[in-house]
Amino acid sequence: YVTIDGIEKSFNNENKEQVKVLDDIDIDLEKGSFVSIVGPSGCGKSTLLYMIAGLVQADKGNIRIAGNEVRKPGPDRVVVFQEAGLFPWLTVLENVKYGLLLKKMPKQEAEAKAIDMLKMVHLSNYIHSYPHQLSGGMKQRVSIARALVMEPDILLMDEPFSALDEQTRMVLHKELMEIWKKTKVTIFFVTHNIREAVLLSEKVIVFGTRPGKVKEIIPVPTTTDGVLPDSVTLHTEQ
Ligand code: ATP
Ligand code: MG
Repeated sequence: YVTIDGIEKSFNNENKEQVKVLDDIDIDLEKGSFVSIVGPSGCGKSTLLYMIAGLVQADKGNIRIAGNEVRKPGPDRVVVFQEAGLFPWLTVLENVKYGLLLKKMPKQEAEAKAIDMLKMVHLSNYIHSYPHQLSGGMKQRVSIARALVMEPDILLMDEPFSALDEQTRMVLHKELMEIWKKTKVTIFFVTHNIREAVLLSEKVIVFGTRPGKVKEIIPVPTTTDGVLPDSVTLHTEQ
């Protein structure tokens, strides 16, 4: 469904030297799958995610979604970042409605959809609150609702829970799994935390140090129930 084929990418550093960030990346994502990427800082995880989003272009190779080459951002793909990035002057409901109104959806329909989505992330009692009145975990839930209300085919998550404490993260893991099962959205999940990757996803792709290269692919048995299965051996230093 998403085919990442022979991707290479270099950036210039401040001394105008070319630094290769991604080297010959081939990855296939099935429709409706949940795939994680883990790897050390700077190995190009975010760069690859931005490429799927259409925000960064590859030097070599291509990314196709259902056969169509990705050239620019589109409403079929939404990104959830580490920082929720909500508009502080808008309420929770207004933040979630925002994209729908931009799409010229009638006000009442947008409102109903946004409220439904906020229910799904367990924020029904906070729809008229402002971001500064929410905890970090709640803000990240709003950010997820704001992404999903657009009904994307692909949800691109770049360390969405890294800034949260362990307990909150566990709650959000459970909620994300529920959402994934309900919506069948294809999830591409970047994280530093290999445990999180194994718990959540069906397949974990491990990148080596820069330039990012697929080092190992760990297929994860279904329903891990929060426990790392014996069959999963982790060779990656965290
Ligand atoms: P982290 O885990 O710390 O988020 P990452 O694996 O997501 O790291 P990237 O953000 O993809 O890594 O960055 C990979 C490398 O590419 C870094 O060395 C970074 O400085 C460089 N880089 C990324 N974007 C640009 C850019 N627009 N211009 C120049 N260099 C860039
Ligand atoms: Mg990153």
